[in-house]
Amino acid sequence: MRLVLLGAPGAGKGTQAKLLGEQFHVPHVSSGDLLRDAVRKQTPLGQQAKDYMDRGQLVPDDVLVGAIEERLRGRECSQGFILDGFPRTIAQAEALERMLGKIGCPIDAVISFVVPASALVDRLGGRRTCVSCGALYHTAYNPPAVAGKCDRCDGELFQRDDDKEETIRARLQVYERQTAPLLDWYRDVGTLIEVEGLGERQSVFGEIVNKLGAVA
Ligand code: AMP
Repeated sequence: MRLVLLGAPGAGKGTQAKLLGEQFHVPHVSSGDLLRDAVRKQTPLGQQAKDYMDRGQLVPDDVLVGAIEERLRGRECSQGFILDGFPRTIAQAEALERMLGKIGCPIDAVISFVVPASALVDRLGGRRTCVSCGALYHTAYNPPAVAGKCDRCDGELFQRDDDKEETIRARLQVYERQTAPLLDWYRDVGTLIEVEGLGERQSVFGEIVNKLGAVA
């Protein structure tokens, strides 16, 4: 199963990517997680990406695309992947087509999360992530049982630096300008599945699995 998840920041891609990865036994490949990990470890990729990420801007293709290709060609992804956060531009979508063409494994479906812009700021502002296992929470809509602690592993919850209000606004503008045009591109070239992203996580997941069944 090779899926691409498309949607604005805060649309629920990360949450659904984790559920889909468990369902189909394939890894969740998040370009944002890959970059944050590189920043934390201060690798050359992280050093080049950090400033763009802090400003809510896209990391240039010559910095990121090679790292994504390396990940997708790795053994872990040989049975498929749930790709979250990549591609974000038409040039990246074309690069992805080329990479997958080389290994002879096309995308099965592109899932687009439709969420009203007014809900996104609220969702991003309340988002919290577990530092140990990466589980996602929301202070109002999906709070942990004990404030600041992960229900699954007791790890500390943190707020991403780029989930602060000013950077959120920049990221949403970048999405509208550079990523939203991808919807029409995928509508023209492939299987675009649109799901209503605002509901409960399990009902959004159910809708995705149903719609995937319809195109499989
Ligand atoms: P995310 O976790 O997907 O919201 O990504 C966090 C940040 O990482 C973004 O605001 C960008 O700075 C960078 N990033 C993630 N994916 C990409 C991508 N496909 N292209 C360029 N920059 C990216």
